Amino acid sequence: MSISTLPPSSIPILDSVSSCRAWRQKAFDDKKSVGFVATMGALHDGHLSLVRRSLSENDLTVVSIFVNPAQFAPHEDLGTYPRTLPRDLEQLAGQHVSVAGLSRTPSAVFVPSVRDMYPSGISQDIASQKGTFVEVKGYGHQMEGGSRPTFFRGVATVVTKLFNTVQPTNTYFGQKDIQQALLLRRMCRDLLLAYPDAEHLHIVPTERDPIDGLALSSRNSYLSADERSFASTLYRALQTAELLWSQGATKGQCIAAAITVVEEGKGKAASKGVEMRLDYIEMNDADTFEVLSNEQSGLQSKDVVILSGAVWLGKTRLIDNIVIGDLSIVRVH
Ligand code: AMP
Repeated sequence: MSISTLPPSSIPILDSVSSCRAWRQKAFDDKKSVGFVATMGALHDGHLSLVRRSLSENDLTVVSIFVNPAQFAPHEDLGTYPRTLPRDLEQLAGQHVSVAGLSRTPSAVFVPSVRDMYPSGISQDIASQKGTFVEVKGYGHQMEGGSRPTFFRGVATVVTKLFNTVQPTNTYFGQKDIQQALLLRRMCRDLLLAYPDAEHLHIVPTERDPIDGLALSSRNSYLSADERSFASTLYRALQTAELLWSQGATKGQCIAAAITVVEEGKGKAASKGVEMRLDYIEMNDADTFEVLSNEQSGLQSKDVVILSGAVWLGKTRLIDNIVIGDLSIVRVH
């Protein structure tokens, strides 16, 4: 749907980099703080929790909606990724947070075009790409990067462009994509960004289904009813590993127990004609992203640990994680 055919929205829509820059300049002139939430749309309550946090901590809040081609490999779901802009705008208009007796709602939605964001063009095939890309070396090949080798390069590139345009005072990312959030914080530090600086990239807890704990995700809309009924298996597997870790088990034992939970789920799913496949479950250091050794155990370790995984349910890939320890002590040096 083109911007011109959208139903009227109470929130101003910025549909170009230049209009977003002009909007931001006015906020600078007015000495207003700007909170920023980057999304690919198909908004759900996970996204909206980031928006509400931004509303409560900033004078103005801008939300971007941009399905970024550079972070999808050629075989991935760029073409079918849910695009629900009219509903997204409605949901954003419904967000109100009261601060000092005044109601705040999102101030603007930034919906740039692919052409605007990629002036040199963009191919999903990395071998034929031309132009400028951002790579956070050493932090993009573990966990999600193991299964999606070009993913973080695409994310870091688009988020750099979004930051350069919006120049947020504060920005909010979900723990749901913990590696992404920590990697982007490192990127802010490495590139000496001022808007935002690394300290102002905030990580917001994962919103989950209140009944079975499934992490909310735009991709959940791909699931059939039968697939959905097995979708929280990964979270249960991670919780099993977390519990064992807290009781002093080794990483090897924790991962083995988590895999058993997935295997059992897989058996039950198969009996209903649902195909479940484990991609990975791993435990990594939250600072270095290095894989923990199999012998390491919970009671020895004071380091913050990311327990994360991905499963396929039919054609849908779902990810989740639990952070063990206090994420606020993970600092980028
Ligand atoms: P996406 O549209 O999937 O790129 O996500 C946009 C932002 O929303 C990212 O910072 C995600 O980590 C965050 N997000 C997605 N799902 C959730 C969730 N269930 N809880 C909290 N944040 C989320």
